[in-house]
Amino acid sequence: MAQSTGTPGFGKSQSVKRTLAELGVAIIALVILFLFARFALGCAAESLATQLPLSVDEQIGKAGAEQMRSKYDLGRRPTDEQIKRVDRIFNELRAALTDEDAEILKNPRVTVVADPQVNAFALPGGEVFVLTGLLERVGDDDDLIRGVLAHELGHAVKRHGIRGLARKTAFFAVVAMLVGDVDGMVVLLAEGASQLDGLSHSRSMETEADLFGVDLLKRAGHDPDGLARFLESLDSAPVPELLSTHPDPRERAAAIRELAKAGGG
Ligand SMILES: [Zn+2]
Repeated sequence: MAQSTGTPGFGKSQSVKRTLAELGVAIIALVILFLFARFALGCAAESLATQLPLSVDEQIGKAGAEQMRSKYDLGRRPTDEQIKRVDRIFNELRAALTDEDAEILKNPRVTVVADPQVNAFALPGGEVFVLTGLLERVGDDDDLIRGVLAHELGHAVKRHGIRGLARKTAFFAVVAMLVGDVDGMVVLLAEGASQLDGLSHSRSMETEADLFGVDLLKRAGHDPDGLARFLESLDSAPVPELLSTHPDPRERAAAIRELAKAGGG
C-alpha cells in the first residue's frame, strides 16, 4: 500500500512504482529459483547416472559408435599404418589400466576415422575415436597421441559421457531414475548419443581426465609430458571439440607437469 501524501496522483504513481518494484523483485527471485532448480536437477541427474549399471555405458556407447560410423564415413579410409600405430599405443595403455578401471570399460577399443578435424573423443564403455586430422597434426610424435588417448580413457572410466548426457536431459533423467526406470533412462540417453563427439565436458571433468591420464601414462612407463605438449599445441590452432578450452590449455599443461613431478616422475 502506498503512503497517503495528500496528493492523490502522486500517491498513485508511488504505488505503481512500488508495485513494479515488487514485481521486478518477484521476477528476479523466480529466475534465481529456476536457475538454481535447473542446476540442482543437473547435479542430481549426473550423480544418479553414476548409479546406473555399467551395461548402460556399454549400450549407449554402442549406439553412439553406430552414429559416429555413419557420421564420419565419407568414403575415405585411414591408412593401415595409421590404424596400426594408434592400435599399438591404445593397447599399451589398455594393458596398464588397473583391474578396477578395466572392469568399468566394457568395450575398450579404438577406431581411427579419416577426417581432417583435429579431434579425439571417448564414448561410454571405452571406445575411443581418433580423427586422422589429429594424427597429421602430431606428426611422428607418439607421446602426443599417447597423451590424448590416456586423457580420453579417463573420460570413459569416469563415465563423463553418460553423466553429461544425463545432465542435458536433467528433469526427465531424474524422474526416470527415481522411479527406477533404467530402460527409460537408456532410451533417453541414447537419444543424445549422436552428440557424444561434441559433448563439452565441464572444467572439473577435464581436470579429472587429465589427472587420470597422467596416472595411466606413468603406469604404462611413459612420460606424461606428451599430454601437456599436446595441450600447448592447441594454442596455435583450432581447438578440438572435446579437449575443450576450459581451463586454459596452458594452465592445464602446467598442472599436468606438476602432477607428473608430484608422483616422482
Ligand atoms: Zn577432455
